[in-house]
Amino acid sequence: MFVPEIELQSPESIRHFQEQELQKLLIYLQSHSPFYKEWFLQHGIDIAEIRTLSDLQAIPTIGKDILQKRNWDFLCVDKSRIAEYTTTSGTLGKPVIIPLSEKDLDRLAYNEYISFACARGSSDDIYQLMLTLDRQFMAGIAYYQGIRRLGAGVLRVGPGAAALQWENILKIQPTVLVAVPSFLIKLIAYAEAQGIDLSKTSVRSAICIGENIRNQDFSYNVLGNKITEKWDIRLFSTYASTEMQTAFTECRHGQGGHHHPELLIVEVLDTLGNPVPPGVEGEVTISTLGVEAMPLLRYRTGDICTYHETPCACGRNTIRLSPIVGRHQHMIKYKGTTLYPPALFDILAGMPEVLESTIEVFGNDIGTDEILLKICPTAFSDEIDRSIKAQLQAKLRVSPDIEYLSMEQILKLQLPDGIRKPLKFIDKR
Ligand SMILES: [Zn+2]
Repeated sequence: MFVPEIELQSPESIRHFQEQELQKLLIYLQSHSPFYKEWFLQHGIDIAEIRTLSDLQAIPTIGKDILQKRNWDFLCVDKSRIAEYTTTSGTLGKPVIIPLSEKDLDRLAYNEYISFACARGSSDDIYQLMLTLDRQFMAGIAYYQGIRRLGAGVLRVGPGAAALQWENILKIQPTVLVAVPSFLIKLIAYAEAQGIDLSKTSVRSAICIGENIRNQDFSYNVLGNKITEKWDIRLFSTYASTEMQTAFTECRHGQGGHHHPELLIVEVLDTLGNPVPPGVEGEVTISTLGVEAMPLLRYRTGDICTYHETPCACGRNTIRLSPIVGRHQHMIKYKGTTLYPPALFDILAGMPEVLESTIEVFGNDIGTDEILLKICPTAFSDEIDRSIKAQLQAKLRVSPDIEYLSMEQILKLQLPDGIRKPLKFIDKR
């Protein structure tokens, strides 16, 4: 199994290495990035004075709003050198474009190669990709390239289509699935309905994208348990975003996503922009290393999590990120508490009466939020309604409004035209 040498070194050596890489990034931005040149000037930043990781705090962070408004000013290469255009959804409606040069695509492949290797992948594996590879989706191409670099086999089946997924699992005998974990639940249900013996499949693990499979203490959450109770496979969580062009993937010990120090500087900041100590929630803020076309410095991802810095049993000394608590802008202020959609989805996933759900949030006139759960139940009855409400009350201590819909209605809501993943959280604030 390949582990980059730097990840096994002491935290001091890792910091020293990152500080050297930071110098290269600052010099590159100063000479190639129209946006950062202006940003440094505007904020009186002399890059020669930024020597250590803590010096970084002198530079104001940036968020998606600026990246969206000034998108092309972040480009550091001539347009003729862009090899691929990817996008990520923006906050103002229009997508943010993240272009990659040939070198960036190579870096992306390396990133996913070391991430899959971290999750026990090897050249003997066959990966079945259950996600889209088109619609300008960066992750799809990253996984594909990373698997190729690992020397493993790959089949691109695409998202959904449980019957087709199973046909391929039985025929090609893949060892690893890459999928949204809630889709694994659908695969299990299909297998049960068709009499496929889950104890006799070739699959030994799944790389879980987009949704949490663990609680903050790293035990499996409802979703993680629901999958592994019926199907004896190892789940590995991975967290990534298009802007950072880098993944945090768990090793076999499942204690959080490992940071790759040669690819990214990561800070976890509170709402005032101060670094939080390990175990305290903060916003993941990144600076890319080795990115050529659209590198970012102190970019606030909007993702809230905690980090852990004790050495991992796998030998890596890099920090580990906890499961994502939620998106900064998705925080719901509800009846005196604050909560994030992932916690609500996990509660809903644990209810046998709920087949599918969507969370809608809107503001009220007293400045807090209202939640409307749209649920497709197993049956439309008073008994089921009472049971769902009782479980919500027990777990949330408050009970949001519920509207019951048919599966057809809910799927229509989740998949409006032209989107690449189901929309389960609808923010109307
Ligand atoms: Zn580890």
